[in-house]
Amino acid sequence: MNAETQAHQAQLHKMFSRLSMGNAERRAQFGYSERRAALIALRKTLREFEGQIIAALAQDFGKPETEVRLTEIMPVQAEISHTLRHLKRWMRPRRAPATLATFGTRARILPQPKGVALIISPWNYPVTLALGPLVSALAAGCAAVIKPSELAPASAAVVSQIVAEALPEDLVSVCEGGVEVSEALLELPFDHIFFTGSPRVGKIVMGQAAKHLTSVTLELGGKSPVIVGAGADLKRAARIIAWGKFANAGQTCIAPDHVFVAKSVEARFLAELKSAIAKMYGRDEAAQAASRDFARIISPGHFDRLSGMIAQAETGGARKLTGGESDVDSRYIAPTVLMGTDAQMDVERDEIFGPILPVIPFDDLEAVLARIEAGPRPLALYVFERDRAAIDKVTQSSISGALGVNLTLVHFLHLNLPFGGIGNSGLGAAHGIWGFKAFSYEKSVMENRFAPIAPLMPPYRGARKKLVRVMARVLG
Ligand code: NAD
Repeated sequence: MNAETQAHQAQLHKMFSRLSMGNAERRAQFGYSERRAALIALRKTLREFEGQIIAALAQDFGKPETEVRLTEIMPVQAEISHTLRHLKRWMRPRRAPATLATFGTRARILPQPKGVALIISPWNYPVTLALGPLVSALAAGCAAVIKPSELAPASAAVVSQIVAEALPEDLVSVCEGGVEVSEALLELPFDHIFFTGSPRVGKIVMGQAAKHLTSVTLELGGKSPVIVGAGADLKRAARIIAWGKFANAGQTCIAPDHVFVAKSVEARFLAELKSAIAKMYGRDEAAQAASRDFARIISPGHFDRLSGMIAQAETGGARKLTGGESDVDSRYIAPTVLMGTDAQMDVERDEIFGPILPVIPFDDLEAVLARIEAGPRPLALYVFERDRAAIDKVTQSSISGALGVNLTLVHFLHLNLPFGGIGNSGLGAAHGIWGFKAFSYEKSVMENRFAPIAPLMPPYRGARKKLVRVMARVLG
């Protein structure tokens, strides 16, 4: 370890000690009013920084202003408002009625802050996925350290400024930097880690958390399939799928990754998909490249990865329905739809996380469900259908973080639903009360009022022995 790294680690240690030393005090003093005040300050500052947020995301990956408002500013504001509306109730201790065996006691469940939380966020929604979990951490009464992604540095800097402006530094700190900062932070004994990112890094985070037996919430990714059934409203399905896929240039954890379409409607669906893309981003290649409503790819590395996926698919015999054009300097890849891909190609094997949509025809819904079942658990699964029996079949027989019926993406905005994955797509959940619970510990508090405990004590002879035998029979 060189001197610079050592100095940096010492700095992180100091910051961590500062935050965790106040744990007991914070539990006593960071009550409902203080948490409310912190959330209101965050909401106010977020509003004041709207211009900087829009500029930062334009700089990081050409994200259109309206998309920034819709997916970076509004969700955090909504999470704050929802939390402010319900926080008092979430914080309230819940009475736990005595059971027969605990007659004579009084008990309650008291949500308490876990302590100091580490929030590691990705680059693709760099404001929402850093500040959204922070709202839940503050609601729960935790202090937090945020480590934003190094791939969206302008956004990371704005997140840092917002936090510094809105909240005291002994409550929340932002540590900008790359993987080495994340690794150094993961050495520290945090009380909870809330990680959003890839399954690969999720495994590293969970491994590191195990060293301190720190609890984790893992919001991961993977392939989110779409099923377009024979009974779907094809025009509507195509528009909703195209929007879900090409928003943020496909760099969305819950974006439709690929589409399985019933063979009987494939041709009509493809025609509708092409027209939906033309309607949203322009009729031809030049218009699409000039569209102000379409983001760019985050980095040269991801640009190369995605270009490689298209090239490999074409070499293997896949055809383009639309798109395929790209420009390395501006990291532009056109909205691209591929047909004739196969299971050996990277587009069908890896999470695409870019504006490429393979469309795969099917004859048999059972076979599609079996294929999904055989793969890693998706974060989202979408089905487009009007036939209730087909919708019910998909609902009952599939497992995924969420199931969207005739929609894409918008379940992220439903704050009365848990947002999370299962297996490869994650562990635990975010949003609303589930976010609050992720950062809280539910402590059991039990008081003795007139519980008959003495008869349970030795020596077990005579009447006492009989009593315990009767009790075991009656209560067991
Ligand atoms: P990533 O896993 O590469 O990085 C996420 C964070 O982890 C970054 O802050 C990064 O600095 C840090 N990191 C990277 N390597 C690390 C290491 N070896 N040790 C410790 N920390 C490390 O993910 P990404 O590329 O930023 O984001 C894309 C992925 O995130 C996709 O898989 C996507 O599906 C997923 N994602 C999931 C959600 C969700 O809510 N479930 C949301 C957005 C993105």
